[in-house]
Amino acid sequence: MAGNVMVEAVVLRQFSIANGRKMVVLLTDRYGKISTGMWERTKGKKTRTEVTAPFSHIRARIIARRNSYDLLHAEIVRTHYELGEDVEKYLYASYALELTDRVVSENVPVPEIFRLLSEFLDMLCARSGKYLTLLIAYEIHLLDQMGVRAELSHCVSCGRPDELQWFSVPDGGLLCRACRKKLSEKQQERLIYRVDFGIIRTIEYFMNHNLKTFRNAALKEQTAGKIQEVVRQYLAYHLDIRKLKSEGFLEEEQKNAGRSEHGDYIRKN
Ligand SMILES: [Zn+2]
Repeated sequence: MAGNVMVEAVVLRQFSIANGRKMVVLLTDRYGKISTGMWERTKGKKTRTEVTAPFSHIRARIIARRNSYDLLHAEIVRTHYELGEDVEKYLYASYALELTDRVVSENVPVPEIFRLLSEFLDMLCARSGKYLTLLIAYEIHLLDQMGVRAELSHCVSCGRPDELQWFSVPDGGLLCRACRKKLSEKQQERLIYRVDFGIIRTIEYFMNHNLKTFRNAALKEQTAGKIQEVVRQYLAYHLDIRKLKSEGFLEEEQKNAGRSEHGDYIRKN
């Protein structure tokens, strides 16, 4: 990076460090995830701290120092303030932000993931319910961008295209009945899910259509719950993510929503 440059970015998080300095972690359009330092201005009019609140889509001028970046100036493109006005939306957004922060390495350009995240936040703001469908679409596209797309057209073990009734998280795709039978009892218990044709076709549809397709789409609660369980295990296994901080809150929220409106919506099989 020569001199100072303008980037667009989504603010992933910020925290205070010593001497009135703040670190702002950004997912930028051109340089991927970067940590930038800025001076906290506690006096005066509108502080830059507000501009760099998490979820904000900003345009920022940054400059590369020897081991880090400085944030010289930032202005809002979209605040995504709607996320702060609805607890459920906020939890879904927090989860997506934390997930993205965890899977993306610093200083590796990921322009597609930047575009995906800002689109996801825009769409979440505009949506009035069924947030899980949108989150699943985001997660599936994120997995794709991270290069760990699941194999859904044939058995990952023998290659046959039919009798595909199981999804193996460790193997990264579908298993036919015969191959699943060959596994030991212990292996069968490990992250292998019974999936029907409808679930497989649904996941495939999500993979093959961009995020915008799901603007008005909504899965049935039970289907969404089942897919989310598989997707979460898949993310954890292939991208080495232990439980996210925001995940517990989100699960709690989903459980409450499930109890009041949809009975046993996230019940485990
Ligand atoms: Zn097979």
